[in-house]
Formats: sequence, structure tokens, C-alpha cells
Amino acid sequence: MKKGNLKEVTQKEKVDRINKVSKSFCLAKWTQVTLDLLHGTNHSCHHPKRHAIDEATVLTNPWALHNTAFKKEVREEMLRGIRPKECDYCWNIEDTPGEHYSDRIVKSLDPWSYPYFQDVLDCGSKGNYAPHYLEVMFDNACNFSCSYCLADISSSIKKEMQEFGPYPVQRSYHRMEDPEWKRSFKAKENPFVLAFWKWLPEIWDNLHVFRITGGEPLLSKHTYNVLNYCLDHPQKKLELAVNSNLGVERDRIERFLSLLKEINQKKAIKSFSLYASVDSVGAQAEYIREGLNYDTFLHNLQIFLESQTCEFITVMVTFSIFSLPKIDKLILEIEKLKKSFPNLILDMSYLREPEYLRANIGGSDLHGPMISALEIMDKSSVFDDFEKNKCRRIFNWLREEVDESERDSLRADFFGFVNEYDKRYKKSFLNIFPELKEFFIECKRARFLFGQKP
Ligand code: SF4
Repeated sequence: MKKGNLKEVTQKEKVDRINKVSKSFCLAKWTQVTLDLLHGTNHSCHHPKRHAIDEATVLTNPWALHNTAFKKEVREEMLRGIRPKECDYCWNIEDTPGEHYSDRIVKSLDPWSYPYFQDVLDCGSKGNYAPHYLEVMFDNACNFSCSYCLADISSSIKKEMQEFGPYPVQRSYHRMEDPEWKRSFKAKENPFVLAFWKWLPEIWDNLHVFRITGGEPLLSKHTYNVLNYCLDHPQKKLELAVNSNLGVERDRIERFLSLLKEINQKKAIKSFSLYASVDSVGAQAEYIREGLNYDTFLHNLQIFLESQTCEFITVMVTFSIFSLPKIDKLILEIEKLKKSFPNLILDMSYLREPEYLRANIGGSDLHGPMISALEIMDKSSVFDDFEKNKCRRIFNWLREEVDESERDSLRADFFGFVNEYDKRYKKSFLNIFPELKEFFIECKRARFLFGQKP
């Protein structure tokens, strides 16, 4: 696929060119895709709800993994200036007063999108397009059962929910398998995975970013197959990325690193980056992410940092009510590591689902560690604006007013969830989170208020 010669064009000219096709035209609908191969779903970009891929079609035409009949209809709408309903996320932003770009523009300007402007137009709504940004979940094999995660994403949680059923909370659908995406295959092998491996050679040279998610990717044979594929098919512009909980056995880490080293020696790809998740320190981090051993996490993180195989290692913090008491300690830990390893990046986002674990169900009396965290970051020379802004944005969100009756309803669910989670995993919330004792009593009161069993 050829690149257009568009280097000298200014940003404004690029935006005008995108809008001239139509005010609802977005290159990401062609250039980016997230595939869940376990459930046979896809979405472009990651904002719209995922939709089902047709099983029979992909067996003969693997291009339909990305270019589904539904997506082609949406592309047609975009080309005709109709706003697709599924892209509400962007229309809401574009309809708010003031000058700002939605992700429609941001993603259309990305280096893996804009250079392919003419190719996208040539493809139109009927053709099949090879994506440049590909995110894939091969399976849900996972050794963790994190408090906020789902049965669809973690095999351990799936097992838990099959054994114990839903949590005794008002929002009991959380963590359960989503019946909408349930699939049972006639054949032994997942047809979407089979189609993917047929499709990969055809799209390989067009890829800029290939990110593997899970489950826990280091437990999936497909992750190692991708690394071997990189070795056998060097692709100089490819930025490969893998998410990991860094809680797998030593031999897997070694196998993974040894393949990465080989890839680096061969200069087979442009770069590799690791995304590792942790949300607090010590026992509190272990409570949030059932299965985590905090010392092992730090040890494995250090191994990756010292291996010099990664362009970047991003520590992803999913900030929930559980992260609040020790967020300052986590920032100190990351600061210490960043001093020796500048390629370590901190990325924080606040937990949205389930709502009853959101950090803003706590009162402002719990904000102290967050204020300290911001002070540490401001004083330190190792955090950049991206990292500080992410943390500051969470603090600003935390301080926004919440509807009291909604908050009490969430606190009631928090109490119900924690008691049950403690029972299922033989934990003791109050021993591990003494800082949240008063808050927990408030939650217990709320539970009575909503007439649920304690
Ligand atoms: S319009 Fe917005 S939501 Fe839709 S694909 Fe583009 S970036 Fe994503």
C-alpha cells in the first residue's frame, strides 16, 4: 500500500481535508481495529460497542474479521456525512461549545492513519481494508481474578462465577459472562483464531502497531507464535506491544525475553513495548488484583527493565477506591525506578466499571494520599507532563460532586461486594485497608438503607 506525499501539509489543512470528505468521516474506522477472537467480536475504534463477526464468513474470507458487513455500512454513513450512532463518544465532544478536536480528528491524524488518506478513500465503503493499528485478544487464559475484572476477560473469574454465581449486589451483572457474546464452536479450534492466522500474512506489511491483550498474554501460545512470526518475517515499521500482569512463572518470562532478545538482535521490528498493571503497593495491591504477588511483580518488572529489550515499559494504574490509601507510596516506588530507568512510564486512568469500586464513592477525607502523590510528582524531576496531567485529571474528577443517593447506592454495593470477595478469596478487607475502616462503616449503613442483607 502506498503512502501519499503529504508531509508539508499543515495540521489545519489536514483537518480541512478530513472534514471535506464529510463532517462524520473518520479514518480510524478503516485503519484501526480491536479484535476479541475468543468471542468473535470487533470494534473500530475502541470507543464504539463491539459487534459480532460472522463465523461462517471468516472461514472463507478472513478479511471479514475487520471488514464486517456492519462496519461497511458504518463506513458508508461516514462517507455520506451521516453520523454513525455507534460513534456517539465523538459526536458528544464535537457538539460541546468551544474549539476542540474529538478523537475522530485525533485518530485520523495519527501517523498510522493520515498517511493512508487516499488508500482509505480508494477502498471506500465496499472494499476490504488492511488495518495499521491492530489490537488482539487471542484468549482469556488468566491466572488473576482482579476485583474489577470480568469473566469474559479472565478464565479464573469465569471459574469463580461458575462456582459461586453473581455477587449479592444491585449491579449483579458485573463480573458475569455476557450472554450477548457467548459462542460455542462446532469445530475444536476457534474459527476466529484460525481466520486470524490466515489473515495475518496478508496485512503484516501494513501494520504499524500490533498490541496483544488478554487474559494474560504471556500464558497464551499465540503470543509466542507472534514473536516467532516477527523473527521469521521481519517488519521494520512494526511497533509490537504486549500487556502483562507480570505474575507468570519464571520460565515463561525467560522464554518471552529470550525471543525478544533475538528479535532485537535481528532488528526484526521497529520496537517492543510492555504494558504492566499494578494499582497500589504491597498487600493492598495484592487485594485488588487477586493472584498478584507484589514482590514477584516488582522482581519481574526489574528483569524487563534491565533486559533492555523494551522501547517503553508502561506501568498502568487502574485507579479505584482501593488505590486511594497508598497511591503516594506507589508513586514513590515508581519514582525510584524511573530514576534508573527513564523508559519507564506511568499511565493512570480511573476505574469506570464496576461503578461501586470507583474512587469517588469515598469522601474528601480520603483524598490525602492523592494530594501527597501530586506533590511528590510536582517536586520530582522524573515525571513528565503527560504523567502529571493524568494524575491531576483523576484528582479533579475525584473532587467533582456526586449525587448523594447514587453514591449511597454504590456504597451499599461496595459493602456487599467486599464481604463476598473476602469470603470467596479468604481475604480480610479491614485488616488490609485499616485506612478505609470509617468509610466501610458508612457503606454498611448504606447497605441497611437500601434494605439489603449485610
Ligand atoms: S468517530 Fe470517534 S468513536 Fe468513531 S471510530 Fe472515529 S474516533 Fe472512534
